[in-house]
Amino acid sequence: MDTRTLSPPAVEITSGGKSVFVLQPHAEIIVIGAGAFGGWTALQLQQKGYRVTLIDMFGAGNSRSSSGDETRVIRSAYGSNATYFHLNRRALQLWQDYQAQWGKTLLHKTGLLWLCYSEKMPFLEATLPFMQQYGLVYEYISAQEACYRYPLINFSDLHHAVYDAEGGYLMARESCQAVKEAFVQGGGRYIQQQARPMKIENNQLSGIQLSDGTTLCAQAYVWACGAWLGYLFPELLAQIITPTRQEVYYFGPPEQQAAAWEAMPVWIDWHMESDEFFYGIPGNAHRGFKVAYDKRGQVVHPTYLDRQPTADLISKSRQFLAHRFPKMANAPLLEARVCQYENSPDGNFILDQHPLAENCWLLGGGSGHGFKHGPALGELAANILTGAAPLEPLFSLSRLGKQGIYANFC
Ligand SMILES: Cc1cc2nc3c(=O)[nH]c(=O)nc-3n(C[C@H](O)[C@H](O)[C@H](O)COP(=O)(O)OP(=O)(O)OC[C@H]3O[C@@H](n4cnc5c(N)ncnc54)[C@H](O)[C@@H]3O)c2cc1C
Repeated sequence: MDTRTLSPPAVEITSGGKSVFVLQPHAEIIVIGAGAFGGWTALQLQQKGYRVTLIDMFGAGNSRSSSGDETRVIRSAYGSNATYFHLNRRALQLWQDYQAQWGKTLLHKTGLLWLCYSEKMPFLEATLPFMQQYGLVYEYISAQEACYRYPLINFSDLHHAVYDAEGGYLMARESCQAVKEAFVQGGGRYIQQQARPMKIENNQLSGIQLSDGTTLCAQAYVWACGAWLGYLFPELLAQIITPTRQEVYYFGPPEQQAAAWEAMPVWIDWHMESDEFFYGIPGNAHRGFKVAYDKRGQVVHPTYLDRQPTADLISKSRQFLAHRFPKMANAPLLEARVCQYENSPDGNFILDQHPLAENCWLLGGGSGHGFKHGPALGELAANILTGAAPLEPLFSLSRLGKQGIYANFC
């Protein structure tokens, strides 16, 4: 039993119109979950001088976590949503800073190509004012010119393409492991165990229990447990976090042209009328030409989910591939990954206190688009916990009074 004496409690401040308890310098904090959300939060808290323990039951970037694939897309467009646009800008900066500091290439800024079926693409147009604020532009490429620039893509049914030079892809699993390594090298304590919340009493979570029976206490707890959040806090989150089954495939490009295929930008093919949405990461760390069909699959349990890909979804992706990238029509399927989205009802993140325990923070709801934001969301979480930033209303639990729809993607 490792129940240590705690230093004085946190202080109360008003944040985002609500009373929250923020941590005193050097307080002890436990972060549970070493995926994109928890890992970055632990690192940012540690770099602010807090004493942080990071816990993960399967390991940072493990194959069952949402962050555990090879790669994830980063894009600048977020429609008219200012919060995500600015969070993403900050994240991009932090990805660049940290990879320079660590001497690793975690961000591949290959650019991102939107394949547009009609003249108007309202989602991109709504982002333009934010782009202008940063002096950034999207490049409009007519179908005719696009055929010339991207000869491996079939543009016959497309009106034009839009090139986002700020887009690209991130190394997913590798980043989670790099974050954890940096955290440990910086003096953080890392434990591989399953954690469970103990009793909530007097508006406080009393501690956590690990799977070996140890109990740990701290001034604050951050539960960044992805698709498992609803199982850990069933009364509060079972109806809020919905894990859905998602498949991604890595196809093998032709051997004579593999480098040309890998040099292509990340692409998004969104047929708005039918709401069919495919995207892909050609480079994908040499693992193959990655193709994903972004439709929510069946609701699953993230620990026990059968991770074999399904024939009908492979066939759907093959059909798409044969049409959009005709030279890949007969490409062999090299690998597949079955993973889960941890959907919130409206697709927005959750970063808020447990309503019954002011020292217990909930961080999740990545909803298929969270990875890119990891460093900036971790920084925001660290700032909110320490009183340096107000609560973000878009990420509050109270917004979910009215249930929304799954609204975001990659
Ligand atoms: C197929 C797919 C494609 C995606 N594409 C993109 C994309 O292109 N771009 C993008 O930005 N985002 C994308 N996302 C979303 C993004 O990957 C997720 O939003 C993000 O990884 C969520 O990170 P997380 O830390 O919240 O969860 P996770 O990565 O799942 O981490 C949670 C961690 O908590 C641990 N844990 C859970 N319960 C416990 C417990 N009781 N005790 C100890 N440890 C525990 C788990 O082991 C896990 O490591 C995609 C997601 C999927 C599934």
